[in-house]
Amino acid sequence: MSKIIALNWKLNPESIREASVLLSHSDNRNVIVFPPFIFLPLAKNKLKKSGLGAQDVFWEEKGAFTGEVSSSMLLNSGAKYVLVGHSERRKYFNETDEIINKKIKSAIKSGLKVILCVGEPSDVRRMGLTEAKKFIAFQLKKDLDKISVKNLIVAYEPIWAIGTGKSDDPAESAEMAGFIGQILKYKHKISDPKVLYGGSVDSKNVRDFIGFKEIGGVLVGGASLNKEELGKILKQI
Ligand code: PEP
Repeated sequence: MSKIIALNWKLNPESIREASVLLSHSDNRNVIVFPPFIFLPLAKNKLKKSGLGAQDVFWEEKGAFTGEVSSSMLLNSGAKYVLVGHSERRKYFNETDEIINKKIKSAIKSGLKVILCVGEPSDVRRMGLTEAKKFIAFQLKKDLDKISVKNLIVAYEPIWAIGTGKSDDPAESAEMAGFIGQILKYKHKISDPKVLYGGSVDSKNVRDFIGFKEIGGVLVGGASLNKEELGKILKQI
């Protein structure tokens, strides 16, 4: 099964020119690029092989919601995927599991493919993998409440590994990915679940993660903004 390389640009880059350069280095069949909303039309034009997604979505389709972007706007701008529940949105924008659940429902209804991000904080992980699994199972239960869908992807992103340079132990991530896969399969009836790992992935450790059958690919933040590093990552896929 081919591995997914999802590239989350976060709040970068500053200009169309820089975005164009990054896009030309990202165009690969295994890649899904998640630029800021404003670069979606540009990315749609430039990417010939990669998938395209947005970093967030609002749950209503239209109306008096200043600053928000709907699922149909994303689809009409060329996005086929959307990230929901990234830990930075949970932390800085107070996104609760209830909000995340509403976003997933609306995105799926419109035909977007959702990559749901889940992950435990460091104090939970310090108590061990069993405690972390309980945390993740509860997060999935709330985020996916009353949702039945066949093609949802989950990204396991331990919060303490995001943007810190301290990636998870690949074998432990694989165990967690396997655990999430079982939940998706048996509770949510997703026959062929895909679980990504995210958290300080770079060209030196990417193979350690994608080498595990339980890990369906990686979600890359910081390293996706450095074209040399990105090139090295993509070479290993
Ligand atoms: C992310 O943004 O989801 C992420 C994993 O970031 P980084 O690769 O920088 O840790």
